Amino acid sequence: MPIHEKSLIRPENLHVQEKIEVDGIDVSGHWSTFIESRVVTDYNEQLEEEIASLPGGEFIHRCWQCGSCTNSCTVNAINADFNPRYWIYLIRTGMEEELLRDKEIIWQCVSCNKCTYACPRDVVPEGVMKATSHWLELKGHTPKSNSMIFDEIFSEQVIANGKIEDGRTVRRFFARTGQAMMQPWMVEMIKSMMRNLPIGMLTRLGLANFITPRTSDWSGARDAMNEYIAEREAHHRKALRLDDLVQMAESEVGSR
Ligand code: SF4
Ligand code: SF4
Repeated sequence: MPIHEKSLIRPENLHVQEKIEVDGIDVSGHWSTFIESRVVTDYNEQLEEEIASLPGGEFIHRCWQCGSCTNSCTVNAINADFNPRYWIYLIRTGMEEELLRDKEIIWQCVSCNKCTYACPRDVVPEGVMKATSHWLELKGHTPKSNSMIFDEIFSEQVIANGKIEDGRTVRRFFARTGQAMMQPWMVEMIKSMMRNLPIGMLTRLGLANFITPRTSDWSGARDAMNEYIAEREAHHRKALRLDDLVQMAESEVGSR
């Protein structure tokens, strides 16, 4: 019998006897393939709820496992291990340990949204991928991604001033991600700007490095945004039981 979705079986669970004879019949190689039973002891019954509590994961419960997301996926076309349908299945069944085995590729979603257009159940799989990457970071399974760091820097400026300043955003991004400021592409871009932009615009861009651009009467909007963010963060901490995890880690250290 053919093995469907063989790529989903961990190679260490596939056993093939190169030379085996049963009742005088040679069943070597492909015919002797055995699949070791998968034993999962470590369920996280709240996993679906945790992902659903994060932006983008809200509609994961609608999935009926048709696979249209994976079939249409840009990244799956070049890497068969990138499988949104399978990860949604793992999340819905609480198989956290299995999900973590793919933590190094889940973040590779390029947000093209092909899956979202293909999905017949409005699950918004692209959102689920984002929520899952975010969940991996919040739970400490993966370090903060560069895109998450960029989002933070961008949001900090908007919240503080109601405007962003490109030079400051790029400088902070390079500093926080440990990258050299003067990268070859950056030098080329600055040279091209000097050649092509009107002098008035260049002056404004230069001045913005010293005088932070601000939106007038921004304090009310800032307070509202900070309040909303604090509310969402508290909701995420509770849904992901992050405070419990910190407490458990502290008591583990204390008992040593
Ligand atoms: S948004 Fe992500 S998961 Fe969806 S098709 Fe594009 S790469 Fe694949
Ligand atoms: S296309 Fe939608 S319903 Fe089908 S497997 Fe993907 S997320 Fe689930």
